[in-house]
Amino acid sequence: MKKNATEQKKILCHDCSGVKQKASFSCVDCGVSLCTSHLALHNRILRDKKHSLINPVENVEDYRCKTHGKPLSLFCKDDQVCVCQFCTEIHHRNHVIISLEDESRGRKNRLGIKQMDLQKMIQKRLKMIQMINRSVKRSKREKKKETSESVEVFTALIHSIKKSQAELLEVMEEKQKAVKKQAEGHVKELEEEIDKLKRRDAKIEQLSHSDDHLHLIQMEMSRMHDNEPLMSSWESGALRYSV
Ligand SMILES: [Zn+2]
Ligand SMILES: [Zn+2]
Ligand SMILES: [Zn+2]
Ligand SMILES: [Zn+2]
Repeated sequence: MKKNATEQKKILCHDCSGVKQKASFSCVDCGVSLCTSHLALHNRILRDKKHSLINPVENVEDYRCKTHGKPLSLFCKDDQVCVCQFCTEIHHRNHVIISLEDESRGRKNRLGIKQMDLQKMIQKRLKMIQMINRSVKRSKREKKKETSESVEVFTALIHSIKKSQAELLEVMEEKQKAVKKQAEGHVKELEEEIDKLKRRDAKIEQLSHSDDHLHLIQMEMSRMHDNEPLMSSWESGALRYSV
């Protein structure tokens, strides 16, 4: 409707000389657009003859039959072309002929169906975009959840490792203490043995200077019982202390 209004403004009367008036109608039979006064003149000249008048169009020639110069007011279904009254009587005899309006209405209906299909396709794609957006949001939420879960797991793991480390250090400390205690025990025993040995050494020293032969022999005999064995555990490896 709006487009027609703008087109109407552009179309000027073919018959006006000098300043051309705006056309109010186009005559398809004459192939011209005319202003109100030239249309009145056109109609007076025609008298009773009837010409097809339409809203002014720029290309009036396109509305006429190229062969007969008559309005293309009919449609041949067989050949799928617009035809004039004369065409139907000559070239399109026995063809299915309907009015231009009916053909146009049918095409409009088909266009409507096509448009509905297009709308459906658009809606379908809009829905797909919504689904994609929802899925992106969902994956964002899941990522957040997974992140916090893994942080939790790692925190627990680190805590457990630290605890194990502390326990291990404690065990090592205990072992070290035990080793120290054992070593101290050994040192104490060795010192006791040194005392014993010194005492024997002193006796021997004393006997070696004695002139009392009987006493020396008796003492030497009794000293055999005094000859306690030294701890055999003090050989080689027993003195290695390790944790
Ligand atoms: Zn005019
Ligand atoms: Zn005319
Ligand atoms: Zn024709
Ligand atoms: Zn035909």
